[in-house]
Amino acid sequence: MLIYDLDFDEITKLLNEWSEPAYRAKQIWQGLYQHFYNSPEQFTNLPKSLRERLAEHVTFSPFKVKVYQDSSDRTTRKTLFELPDKNLIEAVLMRYGDPADNPQITASPTGRGARKRRTLCISTQAGCAMGCVFCATGQMGFRRHLSSGEIIAQVMYYARMLKEKNETVTNVVLMGMGEPFHNYDNTMAAIDRLNDPEGYNFGARRFTVSTVGLVPMIRRFADEKRQVNLAISLHAADDDARVSMLPINKKYKIADVIDACRYYVAKTGRRITFEWALINGVNDTPEVAKRLAARLKGLLCHVNAIPLNPTPGYAGRGTDRQRAAAFKEALEQAGIPCTIRMKRGIDIQAGCGQLAGQV
Ligand code: SAH
Ligand code: SF4
Repeated sequence: MLIYDLDFDEITKLLNEWSEPAYRAKQIWQGLYQHFYNSPEQFTNLPKSLRERLAEHVTFSPFKVKVYQDSSDRTTRKTLFELPDKNLIEAVLMRYGDPADNPQITASPTGRGARKRRTLCISTQAGCAMGCVFCATGQMGFRRHLSSGEIIAQVMYYARMLKEKNETVTNVVLMGMGEPFHNYDNTMAAIDRLNDPEGYNFGARRFTVSTVGLVPMIRRFADEKRQVNLAISLHAADDDARVSMLPINKKYKIADVIDACRYYVAKTGRRITFEWALINGVNDTPEVAKRLAARLKGLLCHVNAIPLNPTPGYAGRGTDRQRAAAFKEALEQAGIPCTIRMKRGIDIQAGCGQLAGQV
């Protein structure tokens, strides 16, 4: 039994079964989510008998670190975790706003400088069933869903690491391996547990969940009205083009995805992000940008474009700076805001699933 799989009430229930007083649940909860303990011995406020019982019945670390890599500029750390069943998952830490990154910004001594960001990209599944052709995770196929605790443990691993430097995770994006909306319940349970004010207290607005466009789940997510940010991986403005890249588009057409997005914005009032991997000569022309703008007209949104990260299983290449700028300009002229994202950690294969694919 993985401790992070249990919510507060379940821990309380377990302790009750062990005839422990209820306040022990709070001590465990705070130890886990405020002190980031990952072994029973660290809970020095618990009696020895209880620590031994925990050690016997509960797991505190669901994975081993198989490999980690830092990018050459040291802004990005990628960790490959091995789960007990030997499946591999990845989680990447990206540091933004440090002095080396931008000399104009001075880091605060506490590590909580306003513009200093520590963004974590975590996995929700081992592998992925969606089979997007350019994606390293899609190329490896589906292994299994992660439990809520396995999703949480990735965050706690980095929270613990950053704490040593007096730093904290500032943002979490669910853009690692897997399709979060294919593992909806566990993903939302993980977010809600990390959100608990009595525990890790990580604000909902600091999460971003990214989906390939599972329409019923977008609508469900809208109905549930979480403050979590939503990103949709669009990558194409026409169904023919999108089907050739994202097989799920056979089931959920672009128009249906965008309808669901309009529903989401109407329900939540929140802006939606469209992810766009710029592939040279495929989806990066001003004509494509214009067709995209027509699709998104009137929708509270912006487009996040990033040049494709090459993968072994796909021949396409990333768009260069100049073409990317022309794409952005065409979109913005048509009224759709667009950011071209800097490539991060390219020298450590920080693209989705790329390190696991190598091992
Ligand atoms: N399954 C979810 C989240 C994980 S993928 C989704 O597809 O949205 C996170 C993002 O990385 C998606 O936008 C995905 O399309 C993109 N991506 C995958 N492989 C990529 C690659 N080789 N280069 C650039 N972006 C990629
Ligand atoms: Fe899965 Fe997202 Fe990769 Fe598509 S892009 S295969 S949905 S992880």
